[in-house]
Amino acid sequence: MNMEQTIAINGRTYQWMKGPTVVVCCDGCQYEYISEAIAAGVAPFLSNVLSNGSSLMADCVVPAFTNPNNMSIVTGTPPAVHGICGNYFFDRDTGEEVMMNDPKYMRAGTILAAFADAGARVAVVTAKDKLRRLLGHKLKGICFSAEKADEASIAENGIENVLDLVGMPVPSVYSAELSEFVFAAGAKLMERDDRPDLMYLSTTDYVQHKAAPGTAEANAFYGMVDRYLARLDALGATIVFTADHGMNAKHDKDGRPNVIYLQDILDDAIGQGLVRVILPITDPYVVHHGALGSFATIYVPSEKIRQDVISTLTKIKGVELAIGRSDACSWFELPPDRVGDIVVISQKDYVLGTSVERHDLSELKAPLRSHGGLSEQAVPILINRRIPEEATNRRLRNFDAFDLALNHSR
Ligand code: ZN
Ligand code: ZN
Repeated sequence: MNMEQTIAINGRTYQWMKGPTVVVCCDGCQYEYISEAIAAGVAPFLSNVLSNGSSLMADCVVPAFTNPNNMSIVTGTPPAVHGICGNYFFDRDTGEEVMMNDPKYMRAGTILAAFADAGARVAVVTAKDKLRRLLGHKLKGICFSAEKADEASIAENGIENVLDLVGMPVPSVYSAELSEFVFAAGAKLMERDDRPDLMYLSTTDYVQHKAAPGTAEANAFYGMVDRYLARLDALGATIVFTADHGMNAKHDKDGRPNVIYLQDILDDAIGQGLVRVILPITDPYVVHHGALGSFATIYVPSEKIRQDVISTLTKIKGVELAIGRSDACSWFELPPDRVGDIVVISQKDYVLGTSVERHDLSELKAPLRSHGGLSEQAVPILINRRIPEEATNRRLRNFDAFDLALNHSR
């Protein structure tokens, strides 16, 4: 392949990779997970990256959720461009609440697909299958999930016999092993003769929702991550390690979740059923967070009610921000047609719910940790190469990961 070639996509230009390049999106990786694991001595590779590579901080996309941020990273754009601003939205045209995990909702192509079209060998491994179809949109290459690794086929995923390759059984969707499988598969792919030129690995935040930085469970997870990153590094890969969002404790000192039940509050204050609260974190896998995050959007029937709702919300303890759609969409670069009339963000230790009876918290086995708001916006970007300072004296975003990997790594 022509090393002088550049790829232009979504208004940005990317140099052809000089060697195998891996972008890792470690789900829910608040920086303290890294620093605590290093302090505990379980992450020697990451420690070395901090000393001899590049350790940067970046802002993720708000809502600080998984799908919007993964799509931002792989397209190099904010949600206003790629269109995916949550797991869930309210379709005004049909009057229905719909999942946004179908590629038909994507409004931009991915950097991955563009490189594959130009002849690069591209591989994507993701933990949960819900992300796979978005990440693999129009991708001529390998793309499979750990969750459905046993079903991978040449026709659908560009690869088969994944379990034999990885040497692990299909993990539970609620396990640390689901993420380990992603790294193990990535390492195995990179060890093959036809190794990928460009690889994207995306994990799940099951551990981060349960375990705080520095706990034995968190350190064990990051020790595992560290070993696989060291393996990829030894294979000569340029590695950019970032996160889709951070993660914070969302409970009081007794371990009870700090939940603001917006639908209940607004039904009482404004009128029963007048407004509709949408939680874009809602997804089919709610065990580990009870569908509770720090971002919500609200649909209202009139301008008068919109103003009443905003003034009601701003008086509630734990609400950090309640703003109208146009402000929210310009501040957070969101697609206005997929955002409600109001955006609400809760403070660092609070989450937003709809109604008490719509959240099953019985499955929450540990004090609630979650994400979604401004408090989870700062994420690490760690690179096993030096990045010149002139490339970093800007507001870095996690969706600059491919730019840093391909255009600035030395
Ligand atoms: Zn996530
Ligand atoms: Zn999460």
